[in-house]
Amino acid sequence: MEQLFIRFLNVSLVLLIFALTNVQMVVHADNITSVLRKYNVGIEQVNTEALEQELIRAISEFTRVESEYRERQSLIHTVELTTRIMQSNMQFNDINTASLNMQRREDYLIALVNVDADLEKIFEAEKLYREAQSHLGMVLDMSGIMAKRIESLGIYNEFLPDTNLHDVEQAANDLRSARNRLTGARNLADIGVTENLQFPINYPTRVSSPFGLRRNPFGGSGTEFHYGLDLSAPAGSEVTSLFNGVVARAGYNDGFGNYVIITHGKELQTLYAHLSVIKINTGDRVNQFDVIGLVGSTGRSTGPHLHLGVYINGQTVDPMRLFTKS
Ligand SMILES: [Zn+2]
Repeated sequence: MEQLFIRFLNVSLVLLIFALTNVQMVVHADNITSVLRKYNVGIEQVNTEALEQELIRAISEFTRVESEYRERQSLIHTVELTTRIMQSNMQFNDINTASLNMQRREDYLIALVNVDADLEKIFEAEKLYREAQSHLGMVLDMSGIMAKRIESLGIYNEFLPDTNLHDVEQAANDLRSARNRLTGARNLADIGVTENLQFPINYPTRVSSPFGLRRNPFGGSGTEFHYGLDLSAPAGSEVTSLFNGVVARAGYNDGFGNYVIITHGKELQTLYAHLSVIKINTGDRVNQFDVIGLVGSTGRSTGPHLHLGVYINGQTVDPMRLFTKS
């Protein structure tokens, strides 16, 4: 009776600590994506295809804006240059000279007529006067044409695309952010399949001990919190990686025996313990479903089984949340 009371006290104490430390209770019905979201990992359902389309749009928009801006800059430059050349070529002096020349010849012709000069002389002077007149006309026409051309260049200037440097910078920013969104999504996509996952053992297996509070499996009084999922399988069964990732640690300790911790993305880690054989090394890149070791009973174990741990942002999560739907 006294022993039972002590056990009751013991259980109450563990439950109290459990409540105070606010460990997540066992909940089923998730896949890893929604589990990650619940842990505020801030990952949305991956749709890399849509993000790839967004990136392609951002690239083509940037290319358009940038080339429009460059076209504008180069046109402005051309217009300015052409205008300057034309203005320097505009021979205002020619107009004055031609005008004076014509005036002089006109005066000479009138003088000859007034003194009743020789007809031949008058005809000659009239011919020179007409020539000077037509020359002035030509010079005036030319200057008119040039003025019109400069004017039309000015009008063309107004029709230039009004893309400015700010637009180019904006498009560059949009492009950068589209690229970052895609990279982020690809990082998550990199962990592999996240739905309808099977237990990570290549052998029909069953849960021998769930996540959560349990009696000490080594007998005696007392309870303990089991921070993982025990899956029983014959020794030597292949253990596989749940997701793509990098081996954070492959080693041995007294509790876990031979164990492997794999990091998938930044916030998700999985632990595989009590292995008889480890088949990978720290730092190795592993693909989802790759064999990483064999089921064993090393460390604190009562028989061949895999202890599977799942950690998100360093917090322990019930691994069943990755497998069960209800
Ligand atoms: Zn265990």
